[in-house]
Amino acid sequence: MSELRRSPAPKSPVELQLDGDEVLDVSTGQRHHPVEMAGQLKWVSALPGSGMPAHQYVVFGYPPPLPVQVLLTVIKARGYNAYFRGYPSPMRYVELADNMRYWRTVLNRTHMLNRCTLDSVEPPRRVDQGAKRIPWDGPPWAPYGSPWPPGYVEISPGEWVYRSNLDPRRGFECRGCAHRYWLSVPNRPCPRCGTVPRAPADI
Ligand SMILES: [Zn+2]
Repeated sequence: MSELRRSPAPKSPVELQLDGDEVLDVSTGQRHHPVEMAGQLKWVSALPGSGMPAHQYVVFGYPPPLPVQVLLTVIKARGYNAYFRGYPSPMRYVELADNMRYWRTVLNRTHMLNRCTLDSVEPPRRVDQGAKRIPWDGPPWAPYGSPWPPGYVEISPGEWVYRSNLDPRRGFECRGCAHRYWLSVPNRPCPRCGTVPRAPADI
């Protein structure tokens, strides 16, 4: 029997569904443990600072590698929507048996899977428990009332944007060897000679 078809959505290489604590590959019958899959990814530790809590991330493309797909399946099927600090929209989170919280983000077409330990930050505010957006003072990722970090300018009341050319941490000049580097945290040593800046007077 023939059917008229709409143009198909980009095809995912595998079809996955949550089955108990595992994720089932429908086509092969193979089962995947989400925590085991997470262990196969090369997590990058995010640079701390400016009120951003410690976390890790993996950047992925499409189609995502299988471990990412497994984790995205769990986030979608078992996650909850919740607001984090001052962000205007909720994100979807899930906690796994490794005592880590997982969520995905996309920024400027960069897709990321993120995770943090449960004790690294206050829990996000669940929508199913009545949470709403909170008018926020300061950067949305930082505790309420935190100052905007260097490089952010207020282009209209309450609207802040990042201008890297105004960021004094960019091209910070080492007082030891004059090499310029990214001063991600005030005491970051020079990657070339190891000199530690006299923060914050050097900035
Ligand atoms: Zn140096």
